[in-house]
Amino acid sequence: MRVRFWGTRGSIATPGPGTNYFGGNTSCVELTTADGDLLIFDCGTGAHRLAAELMNQGKKAINSNILLGHTHWDHIQGFPFFSPAFVKGNSVAIYGPEGSRGSLHHVLAGQMEFTYFPIELNQLPAAITYRDLTEGIHTIGGARVATQFLHHPAMTVGYRVEADGAVVVYLVDHEPFSNELWRAGAERGRIESILHEGDRRHAKFMADADLVIHDAQYTPEEYGTKKNWGHSTYEYVVQIAAAAGVRRVALTHHDPSHNDHFVADIERKARTCSGRASPHLHAREADRRVAAGNRFLAATGFDASVREAGARHRGARNLPAVALSHRALSQLCQRLEGEPEPLCQPGPGDDLARQVKVRVAPPCA
Ligand SMILES: [Zn+2]
Ligand SMILES: [Zn+2]
Repeated sequence: MRVRFWGTRGSIATPGPGTNYFGGNTSCVELTTADGDLLIFDCGTGAHRLAAELMNQGKKAINSNILLGHTHWDHIQGFPFFSPAFVKGNSVAIYGPEGSRGSLHHVLAGQMEFTYFPIELNQLPAAITYRDLTEGIHTIGGARVATQFLHHPAMTVGYRVEADGAVVVYLVDHEPFSNELWRAGAERGRIESILHEGDRRHAKFMADADLVIHDAQYTPEEYGTKKNWGHSTYEYVVQIAAAAGVRRVALTHHDPSHNDHFVADIERKARTCSGRASPHLHAREADRRVAAGNRFLAATGFDASVREAGARHRGARNLPAVALSHRALSQLCQRLEGEPEPLCQPGPGDDLARQVKVRVAPPCA
């Protein structure tokens, strides 16, 4: 499968020179399976550029599945500009948690009422279906998709997608259930040692994933004044992902007040796990599963192939730790090791999707 980030910003779109590298568009991530099933996590302003890319592919019909974590603005505002929905013959299946104020259809129609937008939802020519979700297991194309509630002020779900023998988990707009992650006296770095049942459940949901895309809006220092706003710190993400045996993490939903320099600093701290606020992160635990330095990155518009060599189905516990995605690991390592060549090809003022330049190299894990 292939994963591309089209929107990595949380809360509000933040274009400009200060966010050019990590991107200023709000949440939107594309996952395409080997069979061509198209799953789109969230439909923030990044969806506009993804839509253009889909339209340019010249397909006879575009069949897309939009998986909304929830319906806050930064996750749906791109939908009225999702051009495949304006073409007869295309299909758009929209999944999301039912909002507290009504069905998914009703909530999405609200932002396209005539007061706000010239074309109403029911006027769109594509075949659009709506599926209100709670927790469960679903089949979307050839992918098995599990949903679980996240901890956020609105009804929000996370998605665990299993396809092509790989697992990608999307957990955006979530905050820790508890101030303390670990039970007092317990050995840190293990799921069983997590104090709060909610955080333990969260860790299990991402267990052994090849890629976890996780909200990491705040630093631990900022979090003190942002409690109950529904977002995580990189420190929480790093620790819980390490305990869950996750192979790689993409930190995303960057705070609109954080410029590229700031986000790069978060990435650095998350990678080295040496932030003052995370003295207890068990690097040894991380090392045991996969080289720690390869684990963390802040999501920009990178393009990652998550593919299993040999296409064995997941669930086989004896798979070697890095066999699933050598190529993707190589790409990420290139990037993390300080690739001297430009990693992306931004156009003038372009803060949107980027293509990582791939150079074939052995994985550094
Ligand atoms: Zn959000
Ligand atoms: Zn939200």
